[in-house]
Amino acid sequence: MKKNIVIIGGGAGGLELVAGLVNQLKNANITLVDSSPIHLWKPLLHEAAAGTLNSYEDELSYYNFAVRKQFQFCLGSMQGINRSKKEIYLAPVFDDHKNILIPERTIPYDILVMAVGSVSNDFNIKGVRENCLFLDNTEQANFFHQHLLKTLMQLPYRTEKNITIAIVGGGATGVELAAELHYAIRQMAKHGMTFQPENISFVLLEAADRILPALSQRLSDLVTEQLNKIGIKIYTKEQVKEVTPDGFITHSGTFFPAEIKVWAAGIKAPEFLKHLDLEINKINQLIVKSTLQTTRDDAIFAMGDCAYCFDEKLGKAVPPRAQAAHQEAALLVKSIQNSLKNKPLPIYHYRDYGSLISLSYYETVGNLMGRITKSLMIEGKFARFAYRSLYRMHQKALYGTWWVSVLMFANLLTSKIRRRLKLH
Ligand SMILES: Cc1cc2nc3c(=O)[nH]c(=O)nc-3n(C[C@H](O)[C@H](O)[C@H](O)COP(=O)(O)OP(=O)(O)OC[C@H]3O[C@@H](n4cnc5c(N)ncnc54)[C@H](O)[C@@H]3O)c2cc1C
Repeated sequence: MKKNIVIIGGGAGGLELVAGLVNQLKNANITLVDSSPIHLWKPLLHEAAAGTLNSYEDELSYYNFAVRKQFQFCLGSMQGINRSKKEIYLAPVFDDHKNILIPERTIPYDILVMAVGSVSNDFNIKGVRENCLFLDNTEQANFFHQHLLKTLMQLPYRTEKNITIAIVGGGATGVELAAELHYAIRQMAKHGMTFQPENISFVLLEAADRILPALSQRLSDLVTEQLNKIGIKIYTKEQVKEVTPDGFITHSGTFFPAEIKVWAAGIKAPEFLKHLDLEINKINQLIVKSTLQTTRDDAIFAMGDCAYCFDEKLGKAVPPRAQAAHQEAALLVKSIQNSLKNKPLPIYHYRDYGSLISLSYYETVGNLMGRITKSLMIEGKFARFAYRSLYRMHQKALYGTWWVSVLMFANLLTSKIRRRLKLH
């Protein structure tokens, strides 16, 4: 009997795992479930929102990929589980008019991997959901882009010509988005849109006493300096307590008016994980052992942003990063093979290769962590190359070295004639 291996979520980690498993396991049924029919590597979402990346050019269809790699793809959102029967339940899929396209389904599994990522955490703050834009998936990034274009198109014809774009969250996502939007807006003005870029101001609100609080002081200072240089106003120690249609109210009593309001202030794992009778933490992440098996069920693994894995060597939890999801996918390819052969499972230790922050075409800064040099600060072209290589590693895990080289060559050939900016 072939074993059923089911992976829920084909994101940065889940899709790499599927690609690795189909290469290694010949006598198992591999099924990928995702609530979306297309995949776009999540760290590209801020570029898609700004329009500096055309999401259609970089997205992957799960259906096509499944045919090419020979696994099953099921479109749908997981909503429940029966662990004793080893079955998961998918919610029906609806069309735009709320008609059922695909009914509820049951999928049996022998091994289940949860790789459902994370969504923005609104911390139940009043007005966030109703008034802010988010960057959790491609749909939201495309919506963001359309909203930005419409606002900028109307701007020259309005009485009030000045607008503020405010981003809450001075972590990597907020910082990168601020720089990307700043650059994209200047490019839009050069490409025939008639607004004045000087009329658009940028505000970044952060609750901690500095931006990038999870990264080193030096990196934070460098990024602060760069953002100040391009005119992005940073306000630290400003914790938002309410969002209104007109702006943000913080605990210090200050009101920050903003027309475009973006929420990038932390993450939580999806809500449905609360109802699986598996151990979770405060932000719904499934708690896993160092083998990435969930604490209550050895047949269920969790990886990426939806997993809470305390790394003894690191002395803290593995961070929610594409880098971690990539490493965990590689480990789980081995773990699942071992599990099918009843062999011991390998232990996961997070290897931090450093952090890179891309400030669009203005600058890329970061630190690389090596075995000999503990931390090496890098900037400029080399840092940009290292930043881009993260995405190449993801593509390599999906398509293999040969096809990534072909993709890179094709990009190089078409880069001169391809649109750099998405204006529709
Ligand atoms: C704008 C932005 C920039 C970032 N930049 C970086 C960076 O530079 N470096 C870095 O290391 N990290 C970065 N990150 C973080 C990184 O994107 C995540 O850590 C990484 O994507 C996590 O991978 P994952 O596989 O756990 O989840 P994801 O990549 O989010 O994939 C989750 C998948 O699960 C699917 N899914 C969700 N719920 C269900 C359900 N109920 N049923 C079925 N499918 C479901 C989703 O559709 C999605 O395809 C960035 C994040 C953002 C938002």
